[in-house]
Amino acid sequence: MNSTTRRILLYLLLLSAIITVAAALSLVYNLNAIADHYQQLAQEMGRTFFKELVIVRRWNANLGGIYAPVTEQLQPNPYLDDPHRDLTTTDGQRLTKVNPVFMTRLLSEMPDHTAENIQFHITSLNPLNPHNAPDDWERVALQSFEHNAVEHFAVVEEPGGRFLRYMGRLVTEQACLICHAKQGYQLGNVRGGIRVSLPLAPFEAAAADSRRQSYWVHGAFWLITLTLLWVGGILLLRNVAQLEGLNRYMKDLNKQLEVAALTDSLTGIPNRLYFDQQLETHMISSQRYGVAFSVIMLDLDHFKQINDHYGHPVGDRVLREFSQIVKQQLRLTDQFARWGGEEFIIAAPHTLLDHALTMAERIRAAVAECNLATIGRVTASIGVTEYRPGETAMALLERVDDALYRAKANGRNRVETG
Ligand code: GH3
Ligand code: MG
Ligand code: MG
Repeated sequence: MNSTTRRILLYLLLLSAIITVAAALSLVYNLNAIADHYQQLAQEMGRTFFKELVIVRRWNANLGGIYAPVTEQLQPNPYLDDPHRDLTTTDGQRLTKVNPVFMTRLLSEMPDHTAENIQFHITSLNPLNPHNAPDDWERVALQSFEHNAVEHFAVVEEPGGRFLRYMGRLVTEQACLICHAKQGYQLGNVRGGIRVSLPLAPFEAAAADSRRQSYWVHGAFWLITLTLLWVGGILLLRNVAQLEGLNRYMKDLNKQLEVAALTDSLTGIPNRLYFDQQLETHMISSQRYGVAFSVIMLDLDHFKQINDHYGHPVGDRVLREFSQIVKQQLRLTDQFARWGGEEFIIAAPHTLLDHALTMAERIRAAVAECNLATIGRVTASIGVTEYRPGETAMALLERVDDALYRAKANGRNRVETG
């Protein structure tokens, strides 16, 4: 795995982690919001129940209580101290007065409410009817009303399940004083409260539904986003792999082109361009380190005649064989190149003129002694010179060329210095 692939994989993993954390945070936030929402809904319902009861009670109080027929279920209220509590109509129907407190209690006992498991209880710290005495929770709520709280609520565990208990404050109104003035209440005094208990089960079922939806939506979002991210990532990785393959291929091709540009296609040895570059390097290092450096130039004798007599293909083969014979006489550090046509050149670093002469003579002898296919013998003329620090490449090459010219002029198959 290369560094680009590793980097892309790292980004993918990082993005996946960010998406996962974001989805998890959003889910937690959502679940909390759902819990809050249903709790507020239950509270609002408790409050509405309470307000409705207050309105009905006010209606009753404003009428100074209402009369209802006495039945088995509706017996006169023993706690109502009123001389007109019980009446009998002219046709003998017994009626009894139902004041707001009594009405509240009667409503709370209605089968509709008990079936729904909704309970309410009117209570006071100072009740006339002991049935209306507060339990511990209600007492705390009533005490808070004494300190200006208007409502009190909590979730409580009861034998029938979890309930939201809401309690609203009842304040003495003008109509209340008709009955309650004798208890010492004045207008605006807190008289007690009504506790409404709502079963939380329906809210909890709805909240569970919402939670399930939230899990699905978040899970789907997470899965789809990650799938898209990884599909995109894998396609990107594939493209990167293809591009890298192409890049490697181009590099190889470039290397081949570079080698081809610096190699002589006929003999396979370096060409003049390569030699020029090397010559420059040798000249610089010879000048800097003060070491000797010599150049040897070779030219096949009467090569034109070989071409003319045997044809060009044989001439080409002779050039190839000649380059191999010379190569065998060289050290690895010597630079050998085809200068052009049937001319060759050698750069011999760390070599004094004397040593270069010996080397040239050895080469000349090796060429002259070789028995080539088809043509038999071939000879070469050689010019040798040593680099003079500070001179240009052109001056150096001119001198070695002069030496070669002299070798030709002096009868060929020989070595001359310049
Ligand atoms: P001299 O001894 O004075 O060097 O005589 P020469 O015939 O070798 O020199 P000349 O410069 O007159 O001829 C060189 C010939 O080399 C001419 C050309 O046809 C031939 N030649 C140059 N390049 C190639 C090549 O790549 N292949 C072949 N077969 N011949 C080549
Ligand atoms: Mg020539
Ligand atoms: Mg020649």
